[in-house]
Amino acid sequence: MALLSVVLVFILRYELQPLLGERSPFLLFTLSVMVSAWYGGLGPGLVATALGTCVGFYFFLVPTDTWNLAYKIDWMPTLLSFGIGIAISILSGSMHTARHKAEQSALALRESEARHRRIVETANEGIWLMDPHTRTTFSNQSMADMLGFSVGEMAERPVADFLFGEDVAKVETLFERWKRGISDRLDIRLKHRNGSELWTHISACPVCGDTGEFLGILVMVNDVTQHRRADNALRESEHQLRLSLRAANAATWEWCIATGRVFWSDEHYRLFGEEPGAFEPSQEGWLNRVHSDDRVQVRAQLERAIQQRREVNIDYRIVLPDSNLKWVNCRGQVYSDARGRAERVLGVVMDITERRKIETEREQIRAREMAAHALEQAARTEAARKGQELKSAMLDALAHDMKTPLTSIKAAVTCLLAGNSDGSPQRHELLGLVNEETDRLNRLVSNAIDTARLEAGALQLQRGPHYVRETIYAALKEIGSGTAGRAVNFQISGAPAPADIDFRMITQVFKQLLDNAVKYSPEGSPLTISCRSSDENVVVDVSDLGSGIATEEQSKIFDEYYRSPASSNPSAGTGMGLSIAKRIIDAHGGRIWVTSQPGTGSVFHVSLPIYGKDSP
Ligand code: ADP
Repeated sequence: MALLSVVLVFILRYELQPLLGERSPFLLFTLSVMVSAWYGGLGPGLVATALGTCVGFYFFLVPTDTWNLAYKIDWMPTLLSFGIGIAISILSGSMHTARHKAEQSALALRESEARHRRIVETANEGIWLMDPHTRTTFSNQSMADMLGFSVGEMAERPVADFLFGEDVAKVETLFERWKRGISDRLDIRLKHRNGSELWTHISACPVCGDTGEFLGILVMVNDVTQHRRADNALRESEHQLRLSLRAANAATWEWCIATGRVFWSDEHYRLFGEEPGAFEPSQEGWLNRVHSDDRVQVRAQLERAIQQRREVNIDYRIVLPDSNLKWVNCRGQVYSDARGRAERVLGVVMDITERRKIETEREQIRAREMAAHALEQAARTEAARKGQELKSAMLDALAHDMKTPLTSIKAAVTCLLAGNSDGSPQRHELLGLVNEETDRLNRLVSNAIDTARLEAGALQLQRGPHYVRETIYAALKEIGSGTAGRAVNFQISGAPAPADIDFRMITQVFKQLLDNAVKYSPEGSPLTISCRSSDENVVVDVSDLGSGIATEEQSKIFDEYYRSPASSNPSAGTGMGLSIAKRIIDAHGGRIWVTSQPGTGSVFHVSLPIYGKDSP
């Protein structure tokens, strides 16, 4: 810069030389010094001074355009030029520094202003500036949003535009305080553009000029409407709770475990028959009023609830000052501190004397009812037992009365048949018919009496350990000539184990199955009986090669009085044999079922529990 300005001046001076003559004014070079120092500061100014003085020789020395310091007089302008150059450099340099500093601080100010504006504009808090006449001079975006206006709409509007009518006077009073230089922090209600309440917490401080004159108010505003609503709701619910407790005649209490302090509500005092606040409540004072019989238990329950942080729920009696007793129910909640230690217990006590009275009466009534019911039950059982005994006796008498003449008839007819070997064939045939019908009648009577006994519940099993094969032998023996001409195959597999059965009854079942096998299979066809044992059961299969049973009938044949329509021997049965057999097997906890292929025969299966395994 210094070099450039000196060169420029040199060129200018050289060009003007014809006009200016040999002694041209040296001050021209001070121009270059001034420019250099102004823009570059002291350093470039001094450089320009040095260069300008040197180049000035060229023009100042006489004759000009030479480098010959011939005359003493030539030094004066040279030194003068040099001195002036230094002075200008210092002056311009300091001006340059001052200007530079001014520019720096203006820049810093601009930056800080922009920063503050950003903070104000983006602050969540509402910022509101008003002049001495309460007119809005500034509001940030948050403030405008809070009130439902835009920043532009708020400008110049008085504060009364944002207040409910009844609040205006109060705010004006506040304004007077602020004008006197007093700052405030308080809750104020504002009016939202839509007319709704906007509860705010404000911090207001007066803004004053340099001479202390009042310029306006700066208000920082926070929306606390939600807090306020929550507070109101809480207060309302507390009020409701207090009303409900009073309506329920319930008393509240609080026990601070750490300090031992106890608080009783007025109702609590009244419940205990005392005047509210008559004495300082305490844990001991409370326990002393508990009936002595309940005291130990109440104290233990309370301590346990505190230890386990459980709900306190205790019924106990209290003794009133007039020695009367009252039943109360005490419910409470244990609260812990931050470290989990039980801190305090809060609870409710209710008078349950009436309830207890009703409960006691109800219990007495229930006990009386139960006693009456038990007596009635016993009487009914006794009557049933007597009825059973009567029925059994009647059935036994009936069986005896019916079987006795039949046995006589059978004996007589057997005698007649035996003694009629030389008689007429017609007589023999008639005697055979009487014999067969006697057998049939005998079966009918037996079945009818068994059914009646089962229905009367008179079937008493005489259970014990018996080998099932023995019952089959007994059944075969009873049938006797009934299987005449038939081959009976008996197969036994597995280790024989005794079953838990009534020997006579199970014999009757196998007799029935063998009877049926003979009845419903062709004469002379073989019968097969197989018996196998497992850990749990003994299973017996009675097979014949008869007509078989249709699949749809297999489940019906165990029903009472069911007889297959396709039965080959319709007159031979009663339809009761299998149903009686099933009842007997069921009573043993066993199972009876049939598998059959029509045309190829039937297999009746009986499963009975092994003794000692499934005994009831
Ligand atoms: P019933 O006195 O008629 O024999 P049951 O109760 O003993 O009465 O038998 C019911 C029906 O089951 C019989 O009518 C018969 O149709 C059928 N039934 C029973 N056992 C056999 C068998 N071994 N073979 C074919 N059908 C049988």
